Amino acid sequence: MARERLYLFDTTLRDGAQTNGVDFTLSDKLTIAKMLDELGVDYVEGGYPGANPTDTQLFSEERKLAATFTAFGMTRRPGRSTSNDPGLAALIEAKADAICFVAKSWDYHVKVALETTNEENLASIRDSVRAAKQKGREVLLDCEHFFDGYKANPDYALACAKAAYDNGARWVVLCDTNGGALPHEVEEIVGVVCQAIPGDHVGIHAHNDTEQAVANSLAAVRAGARQIQGTLNGLGERCGNANLVSIIPTLKLKPEFAEKFDIGVSDDKLRHLAHASRTLDEMLNRAPNRHAPYVGESAFATKAGIHASAIIKDPATYEHVRPDAVGNRRKLLVSDQAGRSNVLAELERIGLKADKDDPRVTRLLDVVKEREAIGYAYEAADASFELLARRILGQVPNYFDVTQFDVNVEQRDNALGQRVTVCLAVVKVKVGEENLISAAEGNGPVNALDLALRKDLGQYQSYIKGLELTDYRVRILNGGTEAVTRVLIESTDENGERWTTVGVSPNIIDASFQALMDSIVYKLVKAGAPV
Ligand SMILES: [Zn+2]
Repeated sequence: MARERLYLFDTTLRDGAQTNGVDFTLSDKLTIAKMLDELGVDYVEGGYPGANPTDTQLFSEERKLAATFTAFGMTRRPGRSTSNDPGLAALIEAKADAICFVAKSWDYHVKVALETTNEENLASIRDSVRAAKQKGREVLLDCEHFFDGYKANPDYALACAKAAYDNGARWVVLCDTNGGALPHEVEEIVGVVCQAIPGDHVGIHAHNDTEQAVANSLAAVRAGARQIQGTLNGLGERCGNANLVSIIPTLKLKPEFAEKFDIGVSDDKLRHLAHASRTLDEMLNRAPNRHAPYVGESAFATKAGIHASAIIKDPATYEHVRPDAVGNRRKLLVSDQAGRSNVLAELERIGLKADKDDPRVTRLLDVVKEREAIGYAYEAADASFELLARRILGQVPNYFDVTQFDVNVEQRDNALGQRVTVCLAVVKVKVGEENLISAAEGNGPVNALDLALRKDLGQYQSYIKGLELTDYRVRILNGGTEAVTRVLIESTDENGERWTTVGVSPNIIDASFQALMDSIVYKLVKAGAPV
């Protein structure tokens, strides 16, 4: 049976830009648009030309995408003609393949917010759709508050949708603007709409205020809608929009959808999904949500002993899909709850061969338990675990020694008479027979130490060029007789690989130093740097 085509419409750059604390630059928008295009999304909504300088600039040039590049804006204002509405004119002139209008479809909003008549609102929809069609644009209409509007006055909500469709809109998009609709309501209402408008012209735009935006989107598809609007990582104001990062793999991997529908995202592109999700977080300088479905670091992490031993026998026992299908990976947590089977499975995943009765495996397990008791967290720091295992198995060369370091924090007045704090680190490193000294200033003592440490590693410098620290987390642990500091550092490299290292000490500089050292040594091991 031929599968039907489902279309994905991404609004990360428009609705997602409404997120608190998110402020995309033009270059951010272009980078994200390219990433979405490569993923295989059908529509990329870039923004609202005329609403702000960034969006106006974004639509001032042709943006060559395989996806349909879409501009967003309002239908003509009530009481004006299309030729006498500068906002509408700017939107129609924008360099975009498609125009997505937003219009009221709840009579209460027409009266209270728009202060016009129901008929004038319908006329505005008709006129705007026609004007954009005449300019050769593909037209979409977002029916704002459609579900609330339908509950209050179904005939009027439907009339708004029909006005757009009858005048040539390619898509009529039903919006759950307040995000309060529930899946069974969405399925029922979309089913009714699809009797008046063919489902392959109906879209769904769900917000996540009851944490059901993904479920609502899928319910709409079950009822006949064939376009889904959403954002990467569920970005969006309040509780966010429907999360395409959860919707895409569900459509691809769950038979109910996969057997009926095709989407523009290939199996191969699906394997880049986790990477796309993390890249966006990185641009926004946010720590990725470890518990995000499909792509989170913990999405395929298993801790308890009996689950772990079953997973080793057959991953399908505790996994709903294969982690590599979305570019994620299985993680068996090494922790004091874990037994020998977890450690062995983790060694196998890393590619380290060890017999289960090897005394070094017992030693590794003992060291992990001892260290976790004093604050190390190996389940969060996979790279430090791998180094520890390799060290015990005798596989980590001694690339270099830090013979001494020194961090100085000074507060003083600068030449302008302003109070400033200056941090300077000096690091002495021995690489082979070479003694190297580096100094660096940083905005804090750890930053200065990191910069000095990575400034000159002699023959190894080229291997750590692409190394970057992307996250630094500190926790004070109150165990035993004194408080200790645990530092977790997340690093990334030129290949987009990420790893986390850990350090623990009563002294924050010392804990940070351990984690920094592990990160550098891990990178050298991975890069196969010669000794
Ligand atoms: Zn929205």
